[in-house]
Amino acid sequence: MNKELLRKLPKVDELLNQEKIKKYLNITMRNIIVDSIRETICNYRNMIIKGRINAFTNEDIINSVIMTIEEKDEFKLRKVINATGIVIHTNMGRSLLSKGAVERVIDVVENYNNLEYDINKGKRGLRYSHIEEIITKITGAEAAMVVNNNASAVMLVLSTLCYEKEAIVSRGQLVEIGGSFRVPEVMKLSGAKLVEVGTTNRTHLFDYENNISENTGVLLKVHTSNYKILGFTEEVPLDELVELGKEHNIAVIEDIGSGVLVDFSKYGFAYEPTVQESIKKGVDVVTFSGDKMLGGPQAGIIVGKKKYIDKMKKNQLTRALRIDKMTLAALEGTLKYYLDEEEAIKNIPTLNMILADKDDIMKKAQELKEMLEKSLRDYDFNISSDFSMVGGGSMPTEKVDTYVIRIRSKKITTKKLEYLLRMNKIPIIVRVCNDEIILDLRTIFEKDFNTILDAFHNVESNL
Ligand SMILES: *Cc1c(COP(=O)(O)O)cnc(C)c1O
Repeated sequence: MNKELLRKLPKVDELLNQEKIKKYLNITMRNIIVDSIRETICNYRNMIIKGRINAFTNEDIINSVIMTIEEKDEFKLRKVINATGIVIHTNMGRSLLSKGAVERVIDVVENYNNLEYDINKGKRGLRYSHIEEIITKITGAEAAMVVNNNASAVMLVLSTLCYEKEAIVSRGQLVEIGGSFRVPEVMKLSGAKLVEVGTTNRTHLFDYENNISENTGVLLKVHTSNYKILGFTEEVPLDELVELGKEHNIAVIEDIGSGVLVDFSKYGFAYEPTVQESIKKGVDVVTFSGDKMLGGPQAGIIVGKKKYIDKMKKNQLTRALRIDKMTLAALEGTLKYYLDEEEAIKNIPTLNMILADKDDIMKKAQELKEMLEKSLRDYDFNISSDFSMVGGGSMPTEKVDTYVIRIRSKKITTKKLEYLLRMNKIPIIVRVCNDEIILDLRTIFEKDFNTILDAFHNVESNL
């Protein structure tokens, strides 16, 4: 053991007085600094004892302390730059909130608020009352309520309308959503019994009809949001299912998944069923996510006939699935824009990224490429057209025209470059294709161009 070297290890106080470390007292907590110093000294002591080092400088220790401080000081949940072009990326937080929604959240959470207080009556009010009106106005439904997410919405609906009864669903619609949400499993947990009818590719009205009995609780339609069955297929049209439900006095419920409130076919996309259309066709209850195509916070929205929604409000499960004031504020802020479709498209990031003009994306690509080229020598940058994805299990077959910057380093492998960009202080998450880094400008904002430039400079200086 190198006792000489061990004696050379600085004391905590000595390091605390080093100018380079002292500076951190202004930006972080003393505890974090002291912990980092202790940890660093301890690491060096172990390395000396194990004979892994036989020399160090004061500078080595100080740098190691600083690295540890920066690591400890970082929030675990933090901003990343999504350069993948996948707009609703479930791994990266799905929809970004609009400015209006964020402002609503701040106003509500920095202050006391009327979350469960009826200002007109001066007494206790209902958490859900604040957004029921706007949701029904936009969707045309009689009533609405909101829970934690769409998975819990499905569960609450089934638990309320189909407990210990049978839910008839087409085999072609037994979906698994990313993160292992499986319709059949959620149904079981809700107490509903699943009756699968038809085949994977074809289900007819008589498949439903032949399975209706006194045990039937609901007819369930699930939107196959993240896949499409193509070829020799048949699905029962919604209006026929609604008709069948009416004949037998059985509720028809639809898990529409993405919650599209705008008809995208107007903008050159394949038609996606909208919530408004389902309600118009007479579906009794429709559920959808708040943070997919709707572009709001995580939430599960339930709309439909008042007599059913009222029952759900009384279900004890509602308490376990209830949403927070932050969600309510963000949802109201988001939905407000939908009162005018143009405003929604202009202000809700998910919508304006999906519908972004191709020429605008090109302009951004050129601007960023120029910035990068100007000060970076060791890379090849090329712009080309490519496809973005909507993501979030929405519009699975839709390839959206975009422009990307393709990048290759002359010094390091693409794999290494991808890693270093991902390890940047603000991580940059890219796509890799044909051994090139792909930056899709659809999901990259101009405000982040400098961060991206800095990241490439850091990569260079760390080589
Ligand atoms: C995404 C999705 C869900 C789950 O929604 P969450 O809001 O993530 O809970 C359920 N059903 C369908 C059809 C979906 O697309």
